Amino acid sequence: MSKALLLRGGRVVTMDAARRIVDADVLIESGRIKKISQTVRQSNRPTVIDCSGLVILPGLVQAHVHLCQTLFRGLADDLSLEAWLAQRIWPLEAAHTDASVHASAMLGAAELLLGGTTAILDMETVRHTSAAFEALESIGIRATAGKCLMDAPPPANPPGLRESTDAALTESADLCERWHGAAGGRLRYCFAPRFAPSCTGPLLRAVSDLAEHSGATIHTHAAETPLELDTVKRETGHDEIAYLDSVGISGPRAALAHCVWVDKDAIARLARQATNVVHCPSSNLKLGSGIAPIPEMLAAGCHVAIGADGAPCNNRLDAFEEMRLAALIQKPRLGSDALPAAQVLELATLGGARALGLGTEIGSIEVGKCADLIALDLAGPHAQPEDADLISRIVYSARAADVRHVIVDGKIVVRDGELKTADLAQIRKTANAEIRRLRRSVGL
Ligand SMILES: [Zn+2]
Repeated sequence: MSKALLLRGGRVVTMDAARRIVDADVLIESGRIKKISQTVRQSNRPTVIDCSGLVILPGLVQAHVHLCQTLFRGLADDLSLEAWLAQRIWPLEAAHTDASVHASAMLGAAELLLGGTTAILDMETVRHTSAAFEALESIGIRATAGKCLMDAPPPANPPGLRESTDAALTESADLCERWHGAAGGRLRYCFAPRFAPSCTGPLLRAVSDLAEHSGATIHTHAAETPLELDTVKRETGHDEIAYLDSVGISGPRAALAHCVWVDKDAIARLARQATNVVHCPSSNLKLGSGIAPIPEMLAAGCHVAIGADGAPCNNRLDAFEEMRLAALIQKPRLGSDALPAAQVLELATLGGARALGLGTEIGSIEVGKCADLIALDLAGPHAQPEDADLISRIVYSARAADVRHVIVDGKIVVRDGELKTADLAQIRKTANAEIRRLRRSVGL
């Protein structure tokens, strides 16, 4: 059992049902939030972190990332999704080894934790998924991750990544058995079909059954580009969201990244099924994919989370950047009152928690929930003056570099802006060595 922790003297943005913001101490015991009050007595001598002058938030949740791509940052700029995949990402993913997947996950998770993201939904590559889980286990982030599934015959998938349906499903089930609920429940499994054009119908149906049976999440991409929609329509005769629904890739257990190209019918279906939509504004802009109609989806009752996607299509894994951009990109289209700051903060906390199937465990600071919290220092000139609306300062002004302390599952993973669970210099050194090796092996 971890030692009790007391966060003393911060301003706590609870994100509870009343959206209370209170000046209070937060007591953490056995990985859970035990007390939020102005008078927490130190009965069992907790470790005290002085949070006076700091803002305490629920740890931010990114419900769509690819840690296996962190090493590819800056190697696939200024390409459309299809060229980005075929020319750079797929060859590099196919060249991965256990060591490079581990290094990529460590680099990505370090960036995420230092920037206040405490929980992720991660799509790995086709092979070496256990190496990523080992990294996630050691660095201390809360993660739901899964092996990428690509079983459709060529030319849909490159030979270096394509697997048979049976092989893909068998390894997924084995990984789920090994990792779902590992590290005291901090690690969970997701079944991760890459996207509809990469997968056969039988695989998608089997994924739906496996997820139902195991309680794991389903994590995929959907409706990212018009070309993707056309491909699915040609091959299945259905609109993509309707097709995914017909094979069981829908509902509260499923998280669909992007959903940029969704019409009224698709939006109504996503809302009706309570399927999670994961908005990735930086990625959608950088790949030129479009602007997802998030306000329309929220108005229809859709469940929405946010994510940075992979490092090569962003190129940061910064939840603050995604929040700010999520708000800003809607305004030219719908007016300056579209997607206000308070709503965006919900997407990055409660929405993410729900997309990970952890709505009752994380996403807000409430007694009994898991102790995933961050402390922000908003004293920098870019986030002043201090009497301005606090939520506005968090969403529009704050930056990843403002994160001072990060606690995941009751353990300190970042203190005073320094990663405590791994050696950052070593992570950097290993990452650079591994990407040099991968580049040589694919001739890039
Ligand atoms: Zn993605």
